[in-house]
Amino acid sequence: MTRVFNFSPGPATLPEPVLRQAADEMLDWQGSGMSVMEMSHRGKEFMSIHAQTESLLRELLGVPANYKVLFMQGGAIGENAIVPLNLIGRGGKADYVLTGEWSRRSAKEAATYGTVNIAASGESSNFMAIPAQSQWRLDPDAAYVHICSNETIGGVQYHWLPDTGKVPLVADMSSDIMSRSIDVSRYGLIYAGAQKNMGPSGLTIVIVRDDLLGHALPVCPSAFNYQIQAEYDSMYNTPPTYAIYIAGLVFQHVKRLGGLKAMEAHNAQKAAVLYDYLDESAFFSNPVARADRSLMNVPFKLKDPALDDEFLEGAQAAGMIQLKGHRLVGGMRASIYNAMPIEGVQALVAYMKKFEVAHR
Ligand code: PMP
Repeated sequence: MTRVFNFSPGPATLPEPVLRQAADEMLDWQGSGMSVMEMSHRGKEFMSIHAQTESLLRELLGVPANYKVLFMQGGAIGENAIVPLNLIGRGGKADYVLTGEWSRRSAKEAATYGTVNIAASGESSNFMAIPAQSQWRLDPDAAYVHICSNETIGGVQYHWLPDTGKVPLVADMSSDIMSRSIDVSRYGLIYAGAQKNMGPSGLTIVIVRDDLLGHALPVCPSAFNYQIQAEYDSMYNTPPTYAIYIAGLVFQHVKRLGGLKAMEAHNAQKAAVLYDYLDESAFFSNPVARADRSLMNVPFKLKDPALDDEFLEGAQAAGMIQLKGHRLVGGMRASIYNAMPIEGVQALVAYMKKFEVAHR
């Protein structure tokens, strides 16, 4: 068996020990005689998996007691509607900060459910930098302020926490949750699809402060109503059971590695290997403002785009896949989430160096 270095933006590479444990337990989970996939979500076996997964998530992220953790479906694009459906009822308007494609899409979707104010936008820099808070025009009466903590396509990430006063901060953390330690108490709501740093697709995590529950618009579907899901412990409808199980294994693995502080240090070290080379190379470049560079998704371009296909083919032949950039940006993108080992990034840089020398 040969495993590749998979630089996919998501669904993304998972820790090998997690996949091995899932394989070992596939037919018979801990003597139950069943696969986790076959379990009733209300049976005692799955209930214990569910409870342990939530408790590990709370422990790793330091989720305070006055926050609910919900395991939902619909992904982050679903949340683009579900968030306003649940929160915008508190006044009918919300602030959105645009830092790239994902936050742009969030704002667009929310406009169906209320008044969206673009409080700041990185458009003038072609979304290559995050607008400084001094440029934000926040509405003190907004129901919430929405940001995307890491723009997966543009490779732009917040390395500071906005101050939104009494207005709840809502963050799409799909592509950087669990990659660093955060102060959950500074947010009103955090949402994330699982398929980058937490597990397979199909599971969406929502962490929401208690006082934000109970304001859903009447048109909000019951399965997407945070208050109802909180009352039912995310069991109002059948939750994505297998994805929850794998996320639980990933959380155990992250805990064994030392938790989010250890992940953060490891991720910074990995990203530095790639950015240091991009900065010294005259052949490859990254366009993002240094202070706002993502430690998770690193877009880069070759000096001559006519060489893109050759670069990708050579990478694939060397066991490195999914490096093609998003069609909106072009070029390349290396997604280096928690589960990408430093050896993967080192192998990529070694390949890039060789390619540069051959095509200089
Ligand atoms: N937001 C961000 C930051 C993302 O990276 C993605 C997926 N790449 C999405 C939203 C959309 O997620 P999903 O496809 O799970 O709905």
